[in-house]
Amino acid sequence: MKVKQVESEKFYFDVLPIHPRPEKLEALSSYVVRLAEANGISSISGLTQTCFSDYLRATHHLYDFPLHSPECLQIAANCTEADIQAMTFHHLGEKFGRTYYPNTCYTFLEKSIAHEARYCPYCLKYYGYRSLLWRFQSLKGCSEHSCYLLDTCCHCNKTIPVFPFQSLVRVTTCNYCLKDLGEGQSQPLPPKEQEETLSFSQDLAFLLSPQSQETMITSPEYPIGKQFSYVRQTNGLSLQEMAKRIMLPTQNVVNVEFAFPGTYTTSFECYFQCAKTLGISFRSIFEGAFAQWRNKEVANDYERQFSEDEVINRVQKSIDMLINYRKPLTKYNTFKSANLLNAPVVPSPTLLKQLENMIHNGRVEQRQKTSLKNQIIEQEILEVMKKLQEAGKLATYSSISEAIKFPYTSLKDDLWDIRALNYIIGYLLCRQRCLDKEEDMLVIRIEIAREQLEEVGEPIVRSTVLQIIERYEVGLSHYSHVKALLENIPTYILRLD
Ligand SMILES: [Zn+2]
Ligand SMILES: [Zn+2]
Repeated sequence: MKVKQVESEKFYFDVLPIHPRPEKLEALSSYVVRLAEANGISSISGLTQTCFSDYLRATHHLYDFPLHSPECLQIAANCTEADIQAMTFHHLGEKFGRTYYPNTCYTFLEKSIAHEARYCPYCLKYYGYRSLLWRFQSLKGCSEHSCYLLDTCCHCNKTIPVFPFQSLVRVTTCNYCLKDLGEGQSQPLPPKEQEETLSFSQDLAFLLSPQSQETMITSPEYPIGKQFSYVRQTNGLSLQEMAKRIMLPTQNVVNVEFAFPGTYTTSFECYFQCAKTLGISFRSIFEGAFAQWRNKEVANDYERQFSEDEVINRVQKSIDMLINYRKPLTKYNTFKSANLLNAPVVPSPTLLKQLENMIHNGRVEQRQKTSLKNQIIEQEILEVMKKLQEAGKLATYSSISEAIKFPYTSLKDDLWDIRALNYIIGYLLCRQRCLDKEEDMLVIRIEIAREQLEEVGEPIVRSTVLQIIERYEVGLSHYSHVKALLENIPTYILRLD
């Protein structure tokens, strides 16, 4: 009935005659291919017309990340939006509070997800679909068949795209040689790997399935982090010891245990490494977090936390400070200098939105101020250059800085000013000397960077010179003069202290 209604409103959408049900933990990229096959759709354009006429580039984005309102697909496949999101990483993202903005789920999982298809040949042979679990790099094998997952075609050895966006072939077929992937043989997993594969598969299945509690908590990072902290302490590990075991900076572990919500500082990979090191499942972490939530333990922390006004106050001060000191106005810098990064604050979505706006406005103000300041300084430098010319002296960085006395003290604190001056003086010197080639400008800027480093008492090394001129060495290799100049600057300096 409901479908009929939608149909009459949006007549260009059509229900396909056959709609196979999604299989357990089937990946959306696999389901869409099976749906097309069942309905005799054999081309990408046919698929786009019937399933994605509201989102024409969808087939280029079928990487199993949550889709933004897949209305047309819903109608074509005769299923709910929830059915479709369940075939993506949606529920995992939801559990960690990473579905608030469209891109956050992607950045959260980016390091953990394989970009090409991986498969168990036996599962493909018997069940004929691809599992969402196979997308996770850390999952070595198939728990049902106790074998390794394959990541290339068993016939032609080529890697297989997650979704066959160039030409539609069955999920069990290789895109290149068109042979059956289900004919592949895979090595059995050794016993230890078998155990690991089984428990990680179960844990992933939990993370990828809907739970009623997952949307109840506004900032789930907080109770999750508390559980990690609790388990680490129970295991008698310090933050440093834990970080050493995972081989990550201590700050990463701190961020898992607590980071200001909405800064999205921690990747899934980081949570995964912590859970693995502590030998604990995500399921138990979440059960602990929900129990804690129900028992109102968090509510006590709510009482101890700063009021929303206090948070806004601190953030505004921090933004003003970053503007004044000309520091990059990132969320991380803002919350860090507001001393909120690891403080017990659980902000509401409305507060997060408000903070977001404050930072946005701060960036606009900072850009305006910076460009105004740069205009003034450019005028000043021009005056000095004119005077130097009148006195018959050569304008160089040192003769200009002698006259103006730039007030910077260290590369770290004044990087923005140093960069801006490097650009402005480089540009003006080129203009005065009638040089208009990119390479000439780069040569002059490198020379200026060397003098600037000397002036602030920093060692002259290649990476810092490149940092000042805001270029990567690889992008400069076709400028022979620049290349030679850079090769004369040491890559590091041995300090004897
Ligand atoms: Zn299998
Ligand atoms: Zn092949």
